[in-house]
Amino acid sequence: MFQPPVFTTLETRSGARIHRLPVEAFPNMWANTYLVETTGWLVLIDTGSGRDKSNEDLEAGLSRAGYRLTDLTHILLTHGHIDHFGGLPYIRQQSQAPIGVHELDLQTVARHEERLALMTRRLQDFLAQAGVANERRDELIQMYRFTKALYHSLPVDFTYEASDMQVGPFEMIHLPGHCPGHVALKLEDVVFTGDLVLERIVPHQSPEELTPYMGLRHYLESLTALKHWSDGASLILNGHDDPITDLPARVETIRQQVSRRIRQTLEALSEPRTIAEATQQVYGPMSGYNALLVLEKIGAYVENLYQRGLLEITNLAELDNGQPAAVKYRRLRTVNDSEILPKEKRYVFV
Ligand SMILES: [Zn+2]
Ligand SMILES: [Zn+2]
Repeated sequence: MFQPPVFTTLETRSGARIHRLPVEAFPNMWANTYLVETTGWLVLIDTGSGRDKSNEDLEAGLSRAGYRLTDLTHILLTHGHIDHFGGLPYIRQQSQAPIGVHELDLQTVARHEERLALMTRRLQDFLAQAGVANERRDELIQMYRFTKALYHSLPVDFTYEASDMQVGPFEMIHLPGHCPGHVALKLEDVVFTGDLVLERIVPHQSPEELTPYMGLRHYLESLTALKHWSDGASLILNGHDDPITDLPARVETIRQQVSRRIRQTLEALSEPRTIAEATQQVYGPMSGYNALLVLEKIGAYVENLYQRGLLEITNLAELDNGQPAAVKYRRLRTVNDSEILPKEKRYVFV
């Protein structure tokens, strides 16, 4: 049975203390926030979702570490997903600590209502093209908006690129693909990976057509970049579950799991199918928020396969007529194992 993550205190090589404060971001969905104590700095990395239980867990964790929200000197976000920044309005009631985020997630935090309105429209288009029926589309969109409805926008105090990807003792790297402005943070020999690599699940992906800087290619390139950037780190801490002990091995497992799903997607597309039909073939019936997540995931895979010339569109005449038609894709040919994923890039950090 699943065990929720627990409060833990760890140390960097030089003895800076890191407390892991898990919060129940949504019912039965846990997220890690981290409190980092280092000379002159008391930094909160991520905030939980802002739901009552999440805020209570955050306060309880802080007090167990011997602190209160008023003691924070900085709040650093790994990325603009609600389970990581939704706690900001609650924290702001007690703390004026400056908030930092990457440029590409700035508006999600600072102009949330605008972003939600735009995303709703893009999601409607995406789901229509994916072949999701009208009524079901409305349900999925309502669900999408519901999880984000509690939040209200807050000004961000600084962005990472403007700070040369260095904030005090923390070094950052931009790793898009799971979220446009996703970063990992490094403090000495400890790396905070946010949601880019998790221990138990394959992190969520969605098509670049829906949001720039998403898409499979960005995600896989970020995995490789993180692996090289984290070379020599002794502790890898993520946004939802336990520390990762062997990052290259975990990255390889994720690549294999993604590759298996893409293979299944290609098999589903041996005859013309929409993204919704292919998703049904690959995952079977899904309920709740997961139904939306798997549509986005298969959407990202189909987008990438189509970009690389491995699929064709079979209902071009319908699309060309301007009818509101769902796009049907078909596999063009047999695809070798070595072609399933885009080629891994080599990174050199100097
Ligand atoms: Zn996330
Ligand atoms: Zn998350």
